[in-house]
Amino acid sequence: MTQGHREPCAGCGEETAAGSVLFSSRRVVAAGADGSHYVCSLCDELAARQRAGRRLSDDELRALIDNGAMAMTMWSNAPGPTV
Ligand SMILES: [Zn+2]
Repeated sequence: MTQGHREPCAGCGEETAAGSVLFSSRRVVAAGADGSHYVCSLCDELAARQRAGRRLSDDELRALIDNGAMAMTMWSNAPGPTV
């Protein structure tokens, strides 16, 4: 994962913290004692695409993130870093 990012996207690892390009469109998934996960709009959309366009609930996203499937999902589908 990229170093120096305070609030990286759980899918692509891009910075989503305040001041970043992705901040305004990111999705925050509460993760209990571990704090929160952040998912950028692109990864949210990619995850939904794999579910026939249905957006995942916070619980579903959290489950994907917790078992590591989120990052794998994104890397296997994303066209690659655009920045
Ligand atoms: Zn992302």
